[in-house]
Amino acid sequence: MSSTKTIGIIGGGQLGQMMAISAIYMGHKVITLDPASDCPSSRVSEVIAAPYDDVDALRQLSDRCDVLTYEFENVDADGLDAVIKDGQLPQGTELLRISQNRIFEKDFLSNKAQVTVAPYKVVTSSLDLEDIDLSKNYVLKTATGGYDGHGQKVITSAEDLEEANALANSAECVLEEFVNFDLEISVIVSGNGKDVTVFPVQENIHRNNILSKTIVPARISDRLADRAKAIAVKIAEQLNLSGTLCVEMFATADDIIVNEIAPRPHNSGHYSIEACDFSQFDTHILGVLGAPLPAINLHEPAVMLNVLGQHVEAAERYVTENPSAHLHMYGKLEAKHNRKMGHVTLFSNEPDNVVEFGKGIDF
Ligand code: AMP
Repeated sequence: MSSTKTIGIIGGGQLGQMMAISAIYMGHKVITLDPASDCPSSRVSEVIAAPYDDVDALRQLSDRCDVLTYEFENVDADGLDAVIKDGQLPQGTELLRISQNRIFEKDFLSNKAQVTVAPYKVVTSSLDLEDIDLSKNYVLKTATGGYDGHGQKVITSAEDLEEANALANSAECVLEEFVNFDLEISVIVSGNGKDVTVFPVQENIHRNNILSKTIVPARISDRLADRAKAIAVKIAEQLNLSGTLCVEMFATADDIIVNEIAPRPHNSGHYSIEACDFSQFDTHILGVLGAPLPAINLHEPAVMLNVLGQHVEAAERYVTENPSAHLHMYGKLEAKHNRKMGHVTLFSNEPDNVVEFGKGIDF
């Protein structure tokens, strides 16, 4: 029997494209579902061009593929449940439901996985904000639909609370205590339904709530790094994880606090393509196929810089001046402001000297 599989990927952006590249060099075939026939994955795979909630298109993908996966968490879980065959989606739809809703996610993280999260409460209307203690700071986040800081309100004053009340009356929310973190970090972990493998701890720097730079290994103590990895493994084991998951966390002086999980390869793990012996996309594909997973080694300290629409020329110039830096461009046709167009990975022991594109100019 051939070990070549046809893998169906829901979503043909850069994550789907890089998953497809891993799958292809392992000998598999890829079919992508994406609303845009010229999506980044169209460079490397056949595309079924249809909306994500088009049940007929999902059924076609299911009929033609051995295994299904997704590149983003807002996939229609009910639609998928209606078409997938037994075992065809190793990641399952439960993990999708958890990561689509911050209320389920917090409940899963604190009660099932039993990892530390910021103190929080569920807010169903502004009435739930009436008695909050304004000597502390908070972040109010909508339960669904938020990303990159959208659907969030930081509360540090009575004025902020006014705006937060409006948000709380518009949607179900989670109110979290504001964490005075030293660093934002993340850990990539991959599973094959039985075993897991974990990547080094990544340090993440955001600009305007968009990831700008990832430094690996994160500049935290070995003790905290071990704790961060152990937390990621604990979450993965609790999920019987298949495929790649990213755990985003805050590192304080002496603790690690989990912020959220993304059940897919993550922007902060892109450095692994060159800097590790297997990338987060390789282990994703191995994981969803139920194949044995390798231990992960970081070759050398690395830095990843995101290339947004306004940075394309600067990035192209950068790699002509620094030819040992790896430029990835995703093949997006239009370089819109703040749109993720590509990234650059380079090896460096001096991450502070690696300057983000556009820093101080047009972020
Ligand atoms: P999120 O959508 O949950 O990833 O939040 C977006 C960004 O808001 C994070 O990357 C943090 O910089 C910040 N943030 C979110 N939650 C908190 C919190 N509880 N305390 C402090 N900063 C936060």
